[in-house]
Amino acid sequence: MEDRERTERLRQLAAQIPRWAQALGFAAAGIADPAALAQVAERLRAWLGAGYQGGMDWLAERPELRLNPERLVPGTQRIILVRLNYFPAATDAVGTLADPDRAYVSRYALGRDYHKVVRRRLAALARRIAAHWPEPVVARPFADSAPVLEKPLAEAAGLGWQGKHTLLIHPEEGSFFFLGALFVNLPLPLSEDRQADRCGRCSACLSICPTGAFPRPYVLDARRCISYLTIEHRGPIPLELRPAMGNRVFGCDDCQLICPWNRRAPASREADFQPRHGLSDRSLAELFLWSEREFEEKTQGSPIRRAGYERWLRNLAVGLGNARDRAAATAALRARRDQVSPLVREHVDWALARLAGTPPPSPRRLPVAPLADAPPPAGQGSGSPSRHLLPAAED
Ligand code: SF4
Repeated sequence: MEDRERTERLRQLAAQIPRWAQALGFAAAGIADPAALAQVAERLRAWLGAGYQGGMDWLAERPELRLNPERLVPGTQRIILVRLNYFPAATDAVGTLADPDRAYVSRYALGRDYHKVVRRRLAALARRIAAHWPEPVVARPFADSAPVLEKPLAEAAGLGWQGKHTLLIHPEEGSFFFLGALFVNLPLPLSEDRQADRCGRCSACLSICPTGAFPRPYVLDARRCISYLTIEHRGPIPLELRPAMGNRVFGCDDCQLICPWNRRAPASREADFQPRHGLSDRSLAELFLWSEREFEEKTQGSPIRRAGYERWLRNLAVGLGNARDRAAATAALRARRDQVSPLVREHVDWALARLAGTPPPSPRRLPVAPLADAPPPAGQGSGSPSRHLLPAAED
């Protein structure tokens, strides 16, 4: 193919990609240059240097892969970013959050796990692209499953800006969406539209955070983030943060729910993201009484599986310790106390003491490291879990 013809065909292909993406159910698609990540290298290193990743060791282990996508997939020349809305319409997020006897599950986790949904559609997009290009196309889809800095790439692709809470925001569609990335070996023309930062003087997300997880705008300390604590964190939840967690048992949406740009956030039409097993507003006591078998059955194909049964019970025990109906919470905690692991039992004892109004027992057998002295990374993780946890551009 001659250079001029090649350029024109690449231009036509790039123009088709957002249309094909929308036909596959994505809200939008844009094309980014992997070199855009050079701008975030210093911030990423500073964030890791501060230890804000907590126990998510994998975030610290391969920064060079995150910053150089062509090392992850050799030959990558462009990254196509997509957005997929997930907010389930028929749920009362604020009402559930305000009811201390009901369990709040982050809205993204009420339905089926998004990883497969997003990856499958990206693979379909890749096939479409390959079918319209005369040479072999190398395309690899990722959805929160590899060391990929989706948010700054999505910002570079014009899909939104990283707000002060570090999540991507689109001015018309808010922030309740998943991101996916398709690495391609084609030098497609880049998306030209960039979304300016429109946070302005607002700081609602920073003030509302129950555990004070933002040391400053655009920076998240995962060690204080309820999403991290309830999903990724493996040990005991720091005592000083437990009361502030309230009824949030899997993730936390406070910073998104308060954000004015979400007032017009569209509801997702995806059947896969609608609540299953009534998880949008079940009572804490009821969920705490689920056997492991029930948990396995009712969370099959759900992101909640990531936490596992033990952490699920641990989180629910904290929620019950913060409940309003003390009698029901105490009865549920006592009913399971002798059947749970030492980790969960320590949280049960903390909750029972709190409900009884007595000083909580000291978790001497399971000491919690002070936040400032969180242990250095060790071990292995599998993919980026929390949608928040990487730094955004600072003022
Ligand atoms: S709540 Fe305000 S500061 Fe936070 S992300 Fe939304 S607009 Fe930006």
